[in-house]
Amino acid sequence: MSNIRLDLLNDKYVLIAPERLHRPDFYKRTPADMGKKNCPFCEGHENMTPSEIYALRDNQPNTPGWKTRVVPNLYKAVQVELQSGSKMQGMFETIQGVGAHEVLIDSPNHDKDIVTLDASHIELWLKSMIQRIVDLKRDQRLIYLNIFKNYGENSGATQRHPHTQLMALPVMPKDELDFLKRNFDYYKKYGRGLVQDIVENEKISKESRVIEEIGDFIAYCPFASSFPFEVTIAPLKDISSLELCDSQELENLSFMVKTVFEKLHKQLGEFDYNLYFRLAPLNKNFENEEYLSHIQNNFRFTLHIVPRIYRLGGFELSTNMTINPVSPEECARLLR
Ligand SMILES: [Zn+2]
Repeated sequence: MSNIRLDLLNDKYVLIAPERLHRPDFYKRTPADMGKKNCPFCEGHENMTPSEIYALRDNQPNTPGWKTRVVPNLYKAVQVELQSGSKMQGMFETIQGVGAHEVLIDSPNHDKDIVTLDASHIELWLKSMIQRIVDLKRDQRLIYLNIFKNYGENSGATQRHPHTQLMALPVMPKDELDFLKRNFDYYKKYGRGLVQDIVENEKISKESRVIEEIGDFIAYCPFASSFPFEVTIAPLKDISSLELCDSQELENLSFMVKTVFEKLHKQLGEFDYNLYFRLAPLNKNFENEEYLSHIQNNFRFTLHIVPRIYRLGGFELSTNMTINPVSPEECARLLR
């Protein structure tokens, strides 16, 4: 049974999830490509996954004929069924692993990832996330949502068929809470949010790191990129979470995602990557309440694409500091 522990020395939460150990490929160095024949995410293999939570389809659940499909993660790190609560043993705090861990299967096609999917399918992918965000938000115990994607060996992916994961937690990760606080302090001082000002500064900077502008979205290589060819996509107006995008904005965002991946592919060929969204918290709790009242005015959601060209080592692990061998200005120049 999973639980969340607070690391007092480093002031961060750690998820202890023994079930994850049973993943079929846990001890292997490379992601298992069990082939299409044994792939639980391929069309026609619906009986190999737990029953679906959501699918974009016009027919019966758990049958072929879907465009995207959401199922519970079989090796979940957290689960919704558990009672919410925490207990102290001496100075050590344990929070039960209440939460949701879901897999969004991006498409029925085993070999199609973002770079080869049509922009119209990327839009369906985003719309499926929105359906899940709206639903998960209804559970007031769920405070924070992370949507992420691992692709390729260097990213930590353990399943070849392209998919996205949604993890909803009953706590705010400390880094995220720290970001909300810094953003709020900045807002109190300047009347604007951090992403809002970063985007404005990227637009006017002489050493341009901007890659593309499409509709109300901009893509750029961040000034202090941790990794070569790291790209951030941000809205040009205050939209705090994905579900607040209107249909035109979603269409533009899909086209932007497609464009950025095509550009990355042109420079890097086939590449491993992590992708994640930074969204406004799902619900308020005692820790984030203060920041949520102004979030519509100072928080913009962002989408981060991080190519994983090399592996991290001891320096990165011990210092939480990375060494990036390629400047973001050079990366942006190449991507443009
Ligand atoms: Zn597959």
